Amino acid sequence: MKDIVLIHRNARMLDNPALFHGSKNQDYGVIFLYDQNYWQANGKSEIQLNFLLDCLEDFDGKLKEKNSQVCVFSGNHFDLQKWIEIHFPETIIHVNHSTDIGYFRNDFNNFRDFFLKKEKIKLYSDFGIQVQAPNRDKWARDWEDQMSKPLLKEPYANQNIKKIDKPLEPLNLFLKDLQLSDKKYSSFQSGGSDQAYSLLDSFLKERCAGYSFKMSSPHEAEHSCSRLSPHIAFGSVSLREIYQKLLAELEITGYKKDLYSFKKRLYWHCHFIQKLETEPELEFCSMHPMSDELRRDVNSELIERWILGETGFPFLDACIQYLRKGGWINFRMRAMIMSFASYNLWQPWQKTSPLLAELFVDYEPGIHICQVQMQSGVTGINLPRIYSVLKQSKDQDPNADWIKAQIPKISNICTDKIHNAELRDLYFEKIVDPALTAKKARETIWASRSNIEFKKIAKEVYLKHGSRKKQNVRF
Ligand SMILES: Cc1cc2nc3c(=O)[nH]c(=O)nc-3n(C[C@H](O)[C@H](O)[C@H](O)COP(=O)(O)OP(=O)(O)OC[C@H]3O[C@@H](n4cnc5c(N)ncnc54)[C@H](O)[C@@H]3O)c2cc1C
Repeated sequence: MKDIVLIHRNARMLDNPALFHGSKNQDYGVIFLYDQNYWQANGKSEIQLNFLLDCLEDFDGKLKEKNSQVCVFSGNHFDLQKWIEIHFPETIIHVNHSTDIGYFRNDFNNFRDFFLKKEKIKLYSDFGIQVQAPNRDKWARDWEDQMSKPLLKEPYANQNIKKIDKPLEPLNLFLKDLQLSDKKYSSFQSGGSDQAYSLLDSFLKERCAGYSFKMSSPHEAEHSCSRLSPHIAFGSVSLREIYQKLLAELEITGYKKDLYSFKKRLYWHCHFIQKLETEPELEFCSMHPMSDELRRDVNSELIERWILGETGFPFLDACIQYLRKGGWINFRMRAMIMSFASYNLWQPWQKTSPLLAELFVDYEPGIHICQVQMQSGVTGINLPRIYSVLKQSKDQDPNADWIKAQIPKISNICTDKIHNAELRDLYFEKIVDPALTAKKARETIWASRSNIEFKKIAKEVYLKHGSRKKQNVRF
C-alpha cells in the first residue's frame, strides 16, 4: 500500500484533499481511527459519534465503488503510529487538518511530528482555517480565496480490492461490535453526504424563505434554518461546495436577503474556529484572562437542574427538553441557555460548556467554546448581553403552544402564568430570581470592564481574535 488516507472528520467523496491526493497512486487504504477516550473527552458524546458513524457508512458505500472502503483502527494515534511504523514504513499518510479539543490535538500532534520527521505525512487544510501564521488583517480576503478555489474531484479508484487484516476491521463489522442502538437516536439528524445535499438543496430553493427572521424562533428555525451544522462539523459536505452553490443561487434567487444572511454565517463558522486554532488554551481559559476571576464558586446542584431542564422557567426548560430530544436548537436559544447559566446562575463556563456541548449533534469546539465565552461576557471584546428568559418566552412563543408541546404536564396552565414562570406547586420551583440575578451580574461585569488594565488587555485580545469586519467594538 503506497498511501494511507486518515479520516477524522471529512467523510466525503468530493472536495476532500487528503482523499483526492492520497488516491492518486491508486494504491491506498482509508482508515478511520476510533479512540474511545476521545469520545468521552471535553464535550464529546455518543450523540456525535452516532452521527459520524452514519457519515462513515454512507462514505464506505461510495468508496466501495472505487475498490476501496473504510477500515477502522481501534486505539489512539500512538497505537496507530506503532502499527504503521512496523507494517507500512514506506507508506505516505494523508490527513486533513482538524481544529479540535486538547485531547485530540495533543495525541495527533505527536503522531504528526513523528511522521513529519520521516517525511511520511502530508497535511491538507480544512475549509477556511489558516494554520500557518494567521493574520486577522487579511483573514477575510484569504478566506474568500480559499472558498473560491475549484472543488477537488472524487478520489481515483484503487487498482485492486485490498484485503483487510487485523487489527483493521471493515466498518460493518466494527458497527456490529459497537452496538449503538438505532432507536435511541431516531429523533436526531442522520449523517451522510446524501442527507447533506438534500438539506442544502431544499434550503437554497425553498426553506430559506424568511430565514433571516424565522431563525430566532425555536419552532420556526427547525425548518427554516439550513440544519447543515452537523454536516459541516463532520464534513459530509465541504464548506467550499456549500459556499459555491450558494453564490450560484444568489444570482437567481428571490430570497436574496435571506441567503446573504446565510452567507455571513458560513464566514462566521471559520472566523470562530480560527480563534481556537490560534489560541488552543481557549478551551480552558477565558479569552480575556481577568474574566476567569469572576466566577469561582461551583454549585453542582444548580448546574444539574439547568442541564436537565428543571429550572422552573418553562420556556428555558422547554428549550433544553427540545435539545435533549433532537440534539439541535437554534442560535438564539443556545445563547439564552448559556446566558442563563453564566449570568443568572453565575456558574463558570468551563463547568457548563462541556455539558451543553455533549447534547449537540453538531458540536464544533471552535464555534461552541467561543460562543460560550461570548454569551458569558468573558471575551473582553464583545458587549455582554444578558437574555431575559421571561421576555424570550413571550417573544418567541406568544401562545405558549411550543412550550406546552415540549412539557405536556403544563399544557392546561394559562399562558401568562407560563410566560411569567408563576406555576407554584404545579411545576418545578424557580431556581433563582431572574431580575435580581441579572442585575447583580450586569453590575459585576460592567464594574470589571471599567478597570484600566482590563481595557488594555481587551485591545490585545481584539488584535489577536477580533473580526475586522465588525464596527461595534468597544473597550
Ligand atoms: C452557546 C452556543 C454554542 C454553539 N455551538 C455550536 C456548535 O457546537 N456547532 C455549531 O455548528 N454551531 C454552534 N453554535 C452556532 C449556531 O447556533 C449553530 O451553528 C446553528 O444553530 C446551527 O444550525 P444551522 O446549521 O441550521 O444554522 P444556519 O443558520 O443554517 O447556519 C449555517 C451554518 O453557519 C454556521 N453558523 C451559523 N451561526 C453561526 C454562529 N453564530 N457562529 C459560527 N458559525 C455559525 C454553522 O456552520 C451553520 O451550520 C453555537 C451557538 C451558541 C450561542
